[in-house]
Amino acid sequence: MAHKGSHAGYLNCPMCDAEVPISGDEKVGDDVYCPFCSIPLKLKKKKNDELFLEENF
Ligand SMILES: [Zn+2]
Repeated sequence: MAHKGSHAGYLNCPMCDAEVPISGDEKVGDDVYCPFCSIPLKLKKKKNDELFLEENF
């Protein structure tokens, strides 16, 4: 809930729509694994600086 400008929080898994916890230490391009469906995801950033996850097969 605490948004203090960092990336910490949750991003939605594009496969199973679960909330994937993000520590805030991840960088764009890092690999993140969904804890629910276990698929590899890549951390990406939209033009508006919003982070999102994309499948990384
Ligand atoms: Zn998932």
